[in-house]
Amino acid sequence: MKDPKLDRLRELVGEVDDLRKAATLLFWDQRVMMPPGGAQARAEASATVGRLAHQKFVSPELGKLLDELDEGDYDYDSFEASLIRVTKRDYEKAVRVPPELTGEMRRSSALALSAWGPAKQSSDFQALLPHLERNLELRHRYVECFPPPDETYDVLLDDYEPLMKTAEVREVFDELKRELLPLIEEIGEAGEVDSSFLQGDFDVSAQRDFSMKILRAFGYTDDEWRLDQTAHPFMTSPGGGDIRLTTNFRPNDISSIFGSVHEFGHGVYEWGVDPSLQRTPLGSGVSLALHESQSRSWENLVGRSRAFWRHFYPELQQTFAAQLGSVDEEAFYRAVNKVHPSLIRIDADEVTYNMHIILRFELEQDLIDNRLEPKDLPGAWSARMDEYLGVDVPDDARGVLQDMHWAGGSIGYFPTYSLGNVISVQIWERLKEDVGDVDEQMERTCSGASSRRRRRSSA
Ligand code: ZN
Repeated sequence: MKDPKLDRLRELVGEVDDLRKAATLLFWDQRVMMPPGGAQARAEASATVGRLAHQKFVSPELGKLLDELDEGDYDYDSFEASLIRVTKRDYEKAVRVPPELTGEMRRSSALALSAWGPAKQSSDFQALLPHLERNLELRHRYVECFPPPDETYDVLLDDYEPLMKTAEVREVFDELKRELLPLIEEIGEAGEVDSSFLQGDFDVSAQRDFSMKILRAFGYTDDEWRLDQTAHPFMTSPGGGDIRLTTNFRPNDISSIFGSVHEFGHGVYEWGVDPSLQRTPLGSGVSLALHESQSRSWENLVGRSRAFWRHFYPELQQTFAAQLGSVDEEAFYRAVNKVHPSLIRIDADEVTYNMHIILRFELEQDLIDNRLEPKDLPGAWSARMDEYLGVDVPDDARGVLQDMHWAGGSIGYFPTYSLGNVISVQIWERLKEDVGDVDEQMERTCSGASSRRRRRSSA
């Protein structure tokens, strides 16, 4: 069935997608290449491209097309039905929010983000506080644009995890909390694992070469991927066949190897998208939790596994002979899997990590439901860190100021990290059932993976 209305819809969403990709590229450049002096001009350029994409998307023509097209005319799982359904959902959300509010949220976040860096640097919560209050006020106005939800937080969560409800997240997290708290205590009583050799003098270019070796074994190729250095690592894809990873190689430890593997997981998820979905709202990961499930799988389930290091450790040991020459594979394996309650979310181990997220998830709900005022965040943070992880928070830089999410206006984002963890192990369990000898295969064929080619190359 060939419907000219559907063709026109594809054309319009394709142009919106082009503008969003341009915005993505501006963002990547800002974080990776741009000298700091470009900040002001880049903020204007990003805002304009963002506004054009929004205006194009909420155009009356697109609205009329969506009114006339019926996804019920096609199989639920077909490209046509999925395109109409997902575009309708996005459109109905986008038209509810006045452009002035979208603009104000963007502006406020940009200002808050530039204040966040220095505030964190000097551990000065008061410097960020007015920005957090403004962000929260705007989020309240945003929530009011939508029909009354079961819980206020539902509206914010939906932007990151479409269709998931706060109550469902709470159910998952309550179970995690119930199991994790005693587990953390039990592991703590088992005694310290030595991981001191993971810190030291690790040449940055050797770290980069080694990371590239791993990524190439996974399927990274120069014609479709990049890896660049940045302060706060991320992955982005400004288009099909263009996967950009970033990582933060540090001269005094080798944990950035896991950071690179993590971002590869995000990248390979985007890389695997069927090229026929490009330039549509279907051409990317379905949700942030699904995205994070992929990065977590590669980082933790592959990258911290025995089989993986059985393959790669001899070479790592050779590369950093001075630091690791006398450390055997078992000691290294135990060190990279060490569980130890700590202050910083992004450096947390697999077991304690989820408690960092649960803490943020609970505080965010308290904020948006007015049970907690932004000015009381540091105290609430410390109390919960003590309760969940038994950790003293020495200053706000290592407490409430450590993440940029709230400054960036992202309330409702954090839970997707832990949901991703949960999904990753569910997929892994299924993988083990279906494949059987995953570990044996991984150990044996890690180096054979780079001969895979993308489907696109045969087109
Ligand atoms: Zn991630």
